[in-house]
Amino acid sequence: MAKIWNEEIECMSLEDMKKLQSERLVKQVKHVYENVPYYKDLMDKKGVKPEDIQSVDDLHKLPFLTKADLRDAYPYGLLAKPLSECVRIQSTSGTTGKRVVAFYTQNDIDLWEDCCARAITAVGGTEEDVCQVCYGYGLFTGGPGLNGGSHKVGCLTLPMSSGNTERQIQFMCDLESTILCCTPSYAAYIGETLHDMGYTPDDIKLKAGIFGAEPWTEEMRRSIEKSLGIKAYDIYGLTETSGPGVSFECEEQTGMHINEDHFIPEIIDPETGEVLPDGTVGELVFTSITKEAFPLLRYRTRDLCVLSRKKCSCGRTLIKMSKPMGRSDDMLIIRGVNVFPSQIETVLIEQGYTPNYLIEVDRKNNTDTLDVNVEMTAEQSAEDAAAIQEREKQLAVAMKTMLGINPKVHLVAPKSITRSEGKAVRVIDKRKLHD
Ligand code: ADP
Ligand code: ZN
Repeated sequence: MAKIWNEEIECMSLEDMKKLQSERLVKQVKHVYENVPYYKDLMDKKGVKPEDIQSVDDLHKLPFLTKADLRDAYPYGLLAKPLSECVRIQSTSGTTGKRVVAFYTQNDIDLWEDCCARAITAVGGTEEDVCQVCYGYGLFTGGPGLNGGSHKVGCLTLPMSSGNTERQIQFMCDLESTILCCTPSYAAYIGETLHDMGYTPDDIKLKAGIFGAEPWTEEMRRSIEKSLGIKAYDIYGLTETSGPGVSFECEEQTGMHINEDHFIPEIIDPETGEVLPDGTVGELVFTSITKEAFPLLRYRTRDLCVLSRKKCSCGRTLIKMSKPMGRSDDMLIIRGVNVFPSQIETVLIEQGYTPNYLIEVDRKNNTDTLDVNVEMTAEQSAEDAAAIQEREKQLAVAMKTMLGINPKVHLVAPKSITRSEGKAVRVIDKRKLHD
C-alpha cells in the first residue's frame, strides 16, 4: 500500500478537520476583508462582516467570486499581500478567454508543493522514484507544481516540460523513469509514439502516471494504462487556487481526495447559487483558507462534479470529488441538447477507436450541425471504402444513443488529427465565430 505524505492531516477525523477549517477560515476572511478592497466591497454589498463568519457553517453567507471578477480586478485587484512579499506569478492557460494571473508568497509555494507531494506519494512515489514531469513549465502551473512536489518527496526529478516526444521516450528509457506527469492527452500521445518507435511497455520502467489539467474519461484511463503498462491517476487543480494538487487520486482510483485543510469545497446549483448536499452534481466552489497572496473566497470554478464522504480504502478521510467531466462552459448546446465532448470520447474508445478526434459545431440554415472527425487506426484504414462507410454509420448510431442527437461522423486517416502536448483542443464551435 502506498504511503501517506501527511497522515495526521490526510487521515484526520471529520470533527477535527472542521475545527481546523473553521479556525483558518475565520482568520482568512479577516485577512481578505482588511487587505482586499475588491472583496470588502462585495462583502459590504452583501451585508456580511468578518464577525459573521465564526465557522465553516457560515461559509454560505459569503459572496461568490467568479472568473469575471478576476478579469475585472486584473492584475493586482485581488492581491492580499504587498508585492514585496510575493515571489512568483503563474497564469492560466487561457482555455476560456483572457488569462488570469495568480500571485504567490514563498509560503504559498511551499503549501502548493506540499499538496503535490501528497499526490505523488499517493501513487506510490518515494525517494527511490524517477519522476518525469512533462507538463509545460513556465506560466502554466502544471510543470512547476509537480516539479516542486517531486523534489519534496525526494524523487529524482526530470524537468522535461512538454514537447519533443521522442526525446521524452529516450530519457524515459535511459533514466528509467517510474512516474510520468503530464496531461492525459499527452500521455496518450507518448504511448502512441512509444509503440511507433518499436518499444513495448516491457521496455520501460514506468509504474504510475499523474495526469490532469483537462477532462478525461475512464475509457481514456484504461487505454493509457494499457499502452504504457502503468496505473493512471487523476490530479486536479486550477491556477486560481494555486495549481495542480488541489485534489488527487489514491490507489482506489474512484475520485480525488481534496486537500481540505487548504481548500474548502462546496457544490452549488450553477443557476441559483444554492448550496447542494454531498452526492449531487453541481458546480464546484473553493475557498482557500491558507493562501496568503491570492486567497480566493468562494471561487466558482465552473467545473461540474459530485462530492462524496464515502469511506476510502486508502485510509484517507479527505472528502472526494468525482472526475469533473467538463466545465459548465465546455458543455455544447446543440439543437437544444446538452453535449459534453467527454461523452463522445467514451463512445469512441468503447468502439475501438483512438482518443484522437475533433468535434466541429456549426449552424446551417438555422440548424445546428455536429460533425465528429475520428481518426482510424492503421488496420481500420486498410479496409475497403464500403467497410469504412459502414463503420461511420455504426459510430453515428452509437453516438446518437449516447447524446440523443444525430452527428455526422467522418473517419479520417491515421495521424491526421493534431496531437496535443498540453491541453487538447477537442472542439471547434464555428457558431461562436459567426456571432
Ligand atoms: P484555464 O482555465 O485557462 O484552463 P488552468 O490551466 O488553471 O486554466 O486550468 C484549470 C482548469 O482545468 C480547471 O478549472 C478544470 O476545468 C480543468 N482541469 C484541471 N484538472 C482537471 C482534471 N483532473 N479533470 C478535469 N478537468 C481538469
Ligand atoms: Zn483514498
